[in-house]
Amino acid sequence: MQGKIALEEHFAIQETLQDSAGFVPESYWAELSHRLLDIHETRLREMDQNGLEMMILSLNAPAVQAIPDRKKAQEIAQRANDFLAEQVAKQPDRFQAFAALPMQDPDLATRELQRCVTDLGFKGALVNGFSQIDQPDTAVYYDLKQYWDFWGECEKLDTPFYLHPRNPLPSMSQIYEGHGWLMGPTWAFGQETAVHALRLMGSGLFDKYPKLNIILGHMGEGLPYSMWRIDNRNAWVKAPPKYPAKRKIADYFRENFYLTTSGNFRTQTLIDAMLEIGADRILFSTDWPFENVDHASDWFNSASISENDREKIGRTNAQKLFKL
Ligand code: MN
Repeated sequence: MQGKIALEEHFAIQETLQDSAGFVPESYWAELSHRLLDIHETRLREMDQNGLEMMILSLNAPAVQAIPDRKKAQEIAQRANDFLAEQVAKQPDRFQAFAALPMQDPDLATRELQRCVTDLGFKGALVNGFSQIDQPDTAVYYDLKQYWDFWGECEKLDTPFYLHPRNPLPSMSQIYEGHGWLMGPTWAFGQETAVHALRLMGSGLFDKYPKLNIILGHMGEGLPYSMWRIDNRNAWVKAPPKYPAKRKIADYFRENFYLTTSGNFRTQTLIDAMLEIGADRILFSTDWPFENVDHASDWFNSASISENDREKIGRTNAQKLFKL
């Protein structure tokens, strides 16, 4: 398929580059760091060779979210966003942008989102999970009340918020002790991000802001597969759910969430996601440079779905959601 639009596609600036070390063996670091710092050469060639018309770019992880100092987090977010705006301006028909945000301070995050969307023309924000705030050993999640005005601004600006994974902190990782291979994309990313997304759904956030759009990568971080069970466990017991939200979790999932195919190039998984959330809410993505564009593209181009769905997932859903 030609004309694909992809939206979980990362870059780094020098200040955040090292955050991506350790996810590949040392012998691959030269290649990965080149891919992260490059915008207009290798990346564009990969796009041309694989039928990608556009990438919406975002900073690598955890980057801003792992900077406990609020002012420093704001400074790095602004620097990354300014750099990204310059890169997009060189080829706006091929690249668009998601803002990095200093979620350590909800007011600073709101102002940076406004600046990026209103002044720089960004299409939304991509945030790497919880934020460490003031102390390194802290993890603050965005269902908390101090973030609700921020969410109101996201809804008002009509800009989607991409909730991207990060690893849990060592103090939160007892279950993985002795099994470091489970960290990162293998398992811990998905678990961490799925729970964060469920916190948002159960908090009542979407009752207050029903037009808010959250995007999850990796075909929904496992959530489509478990959605029925979340709402239907012990169905013989007549008791209301123990969360503040007014509706079933699946209702919020279907009405406030979009999923991307990033890093999860599996037709069985795609079909399950299509059955749970619908083809109108799934968007093609690769997760470059951690995954290959050709791996994503070759799989997606030949996946056993209808051409109508391929066109939606590969292109037109993104055009609608981001008003491209
Ligand atoms: Mn990613």
